[in-house]
Amino acid sequence: MRLTPRKEEVSAIKAVLESPDFDNADQMAKAVIKEVGEVLQMRDWYALVHTWKDGSRGLNFGPFANEAEIKTFASKIAIGGTGKVVKLYSPGVMLANVNGKKGWTGYCQDSDCGHAPANHSAVSAARGACHIPTCPCGQFRK
Ligand SMILES: [Zn+2]
Ligand SMILES: [Zn+2]
Repeated sequence: MRLTPRKEEVSAIKAVLESPDFDNADQMAKAVIKEVGEVLQMRDWYALVHTWKDGSRGLNFGPFANEAEIKTFASKIAIGGTGKVVKLYSPGVMLANVNGKKGWTGYCQDSDCGHAPANHSAVSAARGACHIPTCPCGQFRK
């Protein structure tokens, strides 16, 4: 996976690295790996879906960060058959629409909210109150 770290991803990992809650490097390393997993679940990925020459189901590979990475990979392997690029939408983004993702770019920056823009009523050009029943947010904050 070749990827360019995003601002909100860097701050999520920085928060782990700067936290005083870890007694040793093992604990911190585990926390970093878990956090990276969560962070990467907020991205869309791509897969290479493969079919053998006889039309039977082949070997699927992924995830890849983008289509160019898939083309580079496919050009290096020679197993025959045909390949198709499939986009994998982020389950983290889908869950964050409901559960919220505080401090994440694109989501409401209200400290109690963190829900997606679409969950806020659009009465005017400025988005209004959050629709999630348990959420006290009265105004979408960029
Ligand atoms: Zn909300
Ligand atoms: Zn909100």
